[in-house]
Amino acid sequence: MKQLRGSSPYTDLMKNLKSDCTSCCGLCCFALYFSKLDGFPQDKAPGVPCRNLQSDFRCAVHSELAERGLKGCIHFDCLGAGQRITRSLYSGRSWSESRETAAEMCRLFPEMRLLHQMLWYLIEASTLVPAASLLPRTGALICEVDACCMMPPQTILARLQEGAADELRARVNGVLKETIALTAAFVSPGSAGSGASGSSRDRDLIGKRFRGKKLDGRDFSAALLIASDLSGCSLRGVSFLGADLRDADLRGADLRDSLFLTPEQLASAKGDRSTRLSPHLLRPDHW
Ligand code: SF4
Ligand code: SF4
Repeated sequence: MKQLRGSSPYTDLMKNLKSDCTSCCGLCCFALYFSKLDGFPQDKAPGVPCRNLQSDFRCAVHSELAERGLKGCIHFDCLGAGQRITRSLYSGRSWSESRETAAEMCRLFPEMRLLHQMLWYLIEASTLVPAASLLPRTGALICEVDACCMMPPQTILARLQEGAADELRARVNGVLKETIALTAAFVSPGSAGSGASGSSRDRDLIGKRFRGKKLDGRDFSAALLIASDLSGCSLRGVSFLGADLRDADLRGADLRDSLFLTPEQLASAKGDRSTRLSPHLLRPDHW
């Protein structure tokens, strides 16, 4: 079988995309909107601290999240955006210092999360052998996004207002789409582009049973795979970009060469020791 992943000069940047809650002022528990229905402890608006967030920014119920059914908290992963803001952009200061800082951090956090997500996808794209011809563009975008992450807060927010962030996202999406098509053609010539990326009907795969199937080269980007059965499936070159995998059964699935999976997607799905993962993904603790 031809190797799908190779080396990339950018993989070192992945270390910035691992969440370190000890270096963060609990931004996810303060800056985001969340709802009880999504497995959070309460319905709350952005800029309101969760009632379980303590003054030292630790969670008072951290050891009981599973017992309390707080799936939203267990699955959440900011890909390092929280500590980037707290440690690098605000030198360890927190949102609790002033109303201005709190308002700024609230606007910055979702944006930084998106930037980190883009970096995650682009770095993975840069390792894919079939997409080697895109490396000059992918690499340039990695440098551009990484530079954005290090800009002063005011500059990031100004760019947001000017629409520069949307334009950057569109360019990143373009490269990722090309990467997906090239990879699908590589692993499954003739079936490239088949799958879930077309109509909304194609994307609605809630509860679908695929058990044990060879799905190599399928495109599940943005698909609703909630509670689907992907157990024992071969998923080589399958894109899961932005797919909803909540409660999807991934036991025994071969995801070693699947594309664009994030820690949050994995944590929200069901897997176990028999689920095979690429080395850049950690097995969720609860699997
Ligand atoms: S924002 Fe990220 S780093 Fe900060 S507490 Fe939440 S998950 Fe941890
Ligand atoms: S319960 Fe804990 S982890 Fe969940 S939002 Fe509240 S403070 Fe954060």
